[in-house]
Amino acid sequence: MSHSAQPTASLYIDGRPVEGQGAALAVHYPYTGEVIATLHEASEAQVAAACAAAAKAQPAWAALRPVERGRVLLRAAALIRERGEELARLETLDTGKPIQETRVADWPSGADALEYFGGLAATITGQTIPLGGDFVYTIREPLGVCAGIGAWNYPSQIACWKAAPALVMGNAMVFKPSEETPLGALKLAEILAEAGLPAGVFNVVQGRGAVGAALVTDPRVAKVSLTGSVSTGQKVYAAAAEGMRHVTMELGGKSPLIVFDDASLEDAIGAAMLANFYSSGQICSNGTRVFVQDAILPRFLERLSERLAAVKIGDPLEDDTQHGPIVSAAQVDKIRAAIAQGKAEGARLVCGGPGEGAFVPPTVFADAGDDMFIAREEIFGPVMTVLRFATEDEVVARANATPYGLAAGVFTRDLARGHRVAAALEAGTTWINAYNLTPVEAPFGGVKLSGVGRENSAAAIEHYSQLKSVYVGMGAVDAPY
Ligand code: NDP
Repeated sequence: MSHSAQPTASLYIDGRPVEGQGAALAVHYPYTGEVIATLHEASEAQVAAACAAAAKAQPAWAALRPVERGRVLLRAAALIRERGEELARLETLDTGKPIQETRVADWPSGADALEYFGGLAATITGQTIPLGGDFVYTIREPLGVCAGIGAWNYPSQIACWKAAPALVMGNAMVFKPSEETPLGALKLAEILAEAGLPAGVFNVVQGRGAVGAALVTDPRVAKVSLTGSVSTGQKVYAAAAEGMRHVTMELGGKSPLIVFDDASLEDAIGAAMLANFYSSGQICSNGTRVFVQDAILPRFLERLSERLAAVKIGDPLEDDTQHGPIVSAAQVDKIRAAIAQGKAEGARLVCGGPGEGAFVPPTVFADAGDDMFIAREEIFGPVMTVLRFATEDEVVARANATPYGLAAGVFTRDLARGHRVAAALEAGTTWINAYNLTPVEAPFGGVKLSGVGRENSAAAIEHYSQLKSVYVGMGAVDAPY
């Protein structure tokens, strides 16, 4: 079967598909390596044209009643759900992730965001602050043109998570997907247009980092929301600072998952697998440092190995495949180098290894030290590092001894300990007896080097709006002149 996924054109500007004037971008299906589409980057003039279209469209969009803006998002969500199978297939071709994941996690989570924020639209109000006669009221205003920049691991979900709160607040957006996975954002632009979004409110430009950099510094851009690595986040945050632009930074992590000896072992192992191997480990919030308490460590590793031996690795378009290829050859090389370093530094390879071709199997290291590369650095691949611990105080201190702070998890049947440890962990998102669940209803984001701002939930609205205070004088002006 042909895997061709050529879109009408590479960019989407001012309500229509437009071909890019820049360098060619070949889009590969990671499983076979075949080229499934050839796109072209946006030229500098096209990035500027997208920002100009957004700036022109934004005031009329913001002037609509919120319930009307919300209705467009709700319609778009319904179209996504109707076309679930076709969109899941496209996402699998773009990313290589198993279709059993892309059917339930990627676009469906994007549709959740469009529904959540579409429904929230009409509830966003200001405050009245009484001053004993005089009073102040506040107006929550849109920021204007927002730039969204995405990573390759959840391309369509990221586009929806950024577009939904931005648009519902009356902003316009110019979105640049990762060069590795450019197709989903174009689909989102088409679906939003079909749902009734006015031309220019959501635009897509393609390109490598330089196109992202041009977008971030366009004078019309008031806010930048990036999902990506810490090093890109630092560059983009610095570039945004010059224009005092608002930012949301969803960056990487090296998150801890702590398993106490009273935990349900099977649940903790299931969570550790989800926390390391879903999407072939290419998830920012993954719990890649799995701290296991002394007494249960041998049994934990034994059962983990048994369960991993049954994982089906292979063709991502087959219904029962659970583990697919890595997104690109460059990423495969990085993961293999990390595995080699883990071995060289003396960690014990329990299962997995470098793999072949585009595949890296679920890989587990034990007997690792906190200072080893595999326990410190984000690998962004299917590599779990298991670390032994004895006491609660010790494990919390070790879990927090990292510059990252995206996520953390704790497994225990001791209610008080679960809450105490969750409170002590330095992370923006924590789970007790669960891992990697990121429902749109809950705020998501990092602390420390893992980022600033929050996506999802009503909290995201604060990051796509600004507050105006209106002071109303009700009496004579009391001037001492
Ligand atoms: P990168 O940081 O390399 O890229 C992220 C995006 O930024 C891409 O679209 C990239 O373009 C673009 N970009 C690169 N340089 C610049 C620049 N100077 N100015 C503006 N934009 C730029 O991340 P990856 O795509 O490689 O994704 C993997 C990383 O993302 C991991 O480290 C992971 O932790 C993190 N991540 C974080 C998530 C979170 O929510 N916290 C979620 C998913 C991933 P291009 O790729 O085309 O060069």
